[in-house]
Amino acid sequence: MKADQKTAHGSCHAYTRHLTSCPHRREKEYNVCACPKWIYLRRKGEKSRRFSLETPSWQEAQEIAARKLEELNPTVAEARKKVEERKRKLVTVKDACDLWIEATKSRTNRSGTREQNSVMVKKFMAWAGDQGIEYVQDVTTMLLERWYRGAEWTRYADLTRSQRWVMVRSMVRYWFERGILDRDPIAVIKPIRANGDHVQGPYTDQQVAAILKQVEDDSRLKSFVAVLLHTGCDVVDAVLHDPARIEDVAIGERLVPVYRYRRTKTGVEAVIPLAIDAAQEMRSITGTAQNPEMMPFRNPGVELITDSHNWSQKVKAAINAAGVGWVELPTRDDRGRPKRKPANTKQFRHTAAVRWLREGQRPEDVARMLGHVDTAMVRRHYAPWVKELDKAHISRVVGNWAAMAPGE
Ligand SMILES: [Zn+2]
Repeated sequence: MKADQKTAHGSCHAYTRHLTSCPHRREKEYNVCACPKWIYLRRKGEKSRRFSLETPSWQEAQEIAARKLEELNPTVAEARKKVEERKRKLVTVKDACDLWIEATKSRTNRSGTREQNSVMVKKFMAWAGDQGIEYVQDVTTMLLERWYRGAEWTRYADLTRSQRWVMVRSMVRYWFERGILDRDPIAVIKPIRANGDHVQGPYTDQQVAAILKQVEDDSRLKSFVAVLLHTGCDVVDAVLHDPARIEDVAIGERLVPVYRYRRTKTGVEAVIPLAIDAAQEMRSITGTAQNPEMMPFRNPGVELITDSHNWSQKVKAAINAAGVGWVELPTRDDRGRPKRKPANTKQFRHTAAVRWLREGQRPEDVARMLGHVDTAMVRRHYAPWVKELDKAHISRVVGNWAAMAPGE
């Protein structure tokens, strides 16, 4: 017996039982005839077993014997069993996708949803094909993540990207829930938050009027709200308001009051040209006996963060008292209704930003007035007002035509 037919776990080898008709039946080591091949198997400490194979091939018989020998090792046997089980369960990407399509048909009657689903399924299958993935069991988190971060997905708008990924996720989760997959490889790859969630909304003119009416008898609170509205600054920067921040800048013949400060949050400078009456209102703010002279809203002996919180709450109380419960966003929910966000003090900043955009200010200028380093946030938070920007752009161009006309 050869050495490789025996291990610490037992022994196993193949042999030939020659038929009486075989011309080689007397040759002890002759195996390459077509006579039945058998296996001798003995696990250490147990009785030996012999069994015939279905193949007359000596080559195959030896391979089977070698495998059986290895499988006498319980660790190897266990690992092989798992592989076998997995193989039995393998489902092709195509079959898995078909199952999902069937499932969604019974789940929704909306043809739009079904249409989108089938687009997404085609996309998934094309991707799997490109990756050489034949079975859904071979779809891994890493592959999915690379796909979602790749050009095919990032070229979409955030909202589209997010919505489509949610569909891919529900399909993969379905396979997991049905036992086709023994884990959910996509669970950890969350869709990016869509643009729609970042969009901020302004208070309407009516809401602003109602809030101002509410604070009309509290001159300090009224002034505080005025600073928020005119400058669009954060609450903390309004608390730090200093009338000396307003300087008159000569632009040609005009003196333009300009509000200039560094944002506490980022250190980025904000520069806001003010209307004359807004500048007057903000210059006239005076402190109380306790306020530091330069900062009429800042209370000494209180941490800045506490001061901010207190002011924020005061404004919020006025907003509530004015019956303003929410801002309406220009985005829509699933049922096509405008989305809303609960009203709060911070939305005065968004109100100022949107007002500027509506006036036709360029995103670059609005970003500088808000104290942003670039226009990314403006475009992200206020994207729906790009239409207004378009209008402003068109009217400027048309205005230039009009200016040219008499000379022609
Ligand atoms: Zn033979």
